Amino acid sequence: MKNLHTRTQLVHAGTRRSQYGELSEAIYLTQGFVYPSAEAAQARFDELGDDEFIYARYGNPTVAMFEDRIAMIEGAEAAFATASGMAAVNGALFALLEAGDHIVAAKALFGSCLFIVDTLLPQYGVEVTLVDGTNLDEWRAAMRPNTKVCFFETLSNPTLEAIDIAGVAAIAHDFGAKVVVDNVFATPIFQRALTLGADVIIYSATKHIDGQGRCLGGVVLGDKDFIRGPLETYLKHTGGALSPFNAWVMLKGLETLDLRVRAQADTALKLSNALENHKKLARTIYPGLKSHPQHELVNRQMEAGGTVFSLEIIGGKAAAFRFINALEIVLISNNLGDAKSIITHPATTTHSRLTAEQLADLGISEGLVRVSVGLEDFGDLLGDIEAALNSG
Ligand SMILES: *Cc1c(COP(=O)(O)O)cnc(C)c1O
Repeated sequence: MKNLHTRTQLVHAGTRRSQYGELSEAIYLTQGFVYPSAEAAQARFDELGDDEFIYARYGNPTVAMFEDRIAMIEGAEAAFATASGMAAVNGALFALLEAGDHIVAAKALFGSCLFIVDTLLPQYGVEVTLVDGTNLDEWRAAMRPNTKVCFFETLSNPTLEAIDIAGVAAIAHDFGAKVVVDNVFATPIFQRALTLGADVIIYSATKHIDGQGRCLGGVVLGDKDFIRGPLETYLKHTGGALSPFNAWVMLKGLETLDLRVRAQADTALKLSNALENHKKLARTIYPGLKSHPQHELVNRQMEAGGTVFSLEIIGGKAAAFRFINALEIVLISNNLGDAKSIITHPATTTHSRLTAEQLADLGISEGLVRVSVGLEDFGDLLGDIEAALNSG
């Protein structure tokens, strides 16, 4: 499998067939496993062999298929699947940090990630510095002898700023710190964070990997020492395991991931190009646009601009709400990466926990809306968005 292309790996990697030779991957909907003898049970508890299982909180064959498939396409030595994206973030950070350590994180973080970093970790004695992730000088200035982790999302949500993974990795590694990247917006198809220097990658599989709005899930990828060592130890004892049923949904999601995100990114680029100079818009933000302030960096580390663009509607919250309410195809929700196109008003929903000052600092204005582009027809989506813009 290793020498084959991503499309092939997404369909075949990690498959374990039972004695029945099923074509589609089996759902092993079992929390436990039966041993042929007391001696066999003892042996398995003494040392778990390859492809042996004792309890679904530790591992399960369907979950293992999902882990092996995504590890293969990322080029990671190992993966541990989790109940949600947040279980993955929590697991990775708590497995890497202890009291007295220091973490540097980009301040443009998903709300729950920010809660873990700026509220939870300090309660356990971890020192935290938040930086403007796009500014490598700030990363360097924030590093301390006890810095163990540099953590960021690239692209950021919802302003779609890119963070230079190789640049941050060079700084972090100078200080012996690990680079943990939340790669959700970039997807495993468009950005290979390990190749760029990251040590650990996190996904919310809830987003593009499912891609059809059904299940929560997540995964942590990295080297074998970390994943099978402290990460697995932390997660298996704290209960963040992915359910076998959800793992099966994610496995089937992986089969079509490449096709879906390429089609979605293609439409996102065409839409943002078509909307860029619209008179009702102050700004169109899409990493694939030449006007994106970091277009060169995006080109260097991503194969395409992703499946999400943001629009700044002139006229603030009232105009943004009018626009959102006038849409007929694009749905109002807060998921992303879905087959259905979705619009979000971050300031009043996903980012409402932030103060006015923090929102301003992150460039999240009252007129900003985030659009996750789905699999619908480009012309239909453009028609819907233009009609809604022009109705206000
Ligand atoms: C959704 C999301 C998460 C959290 O994932 P869940 O599956 O909802 O727990 C973390 N990071 C980013 C960037 C996300 O978009």
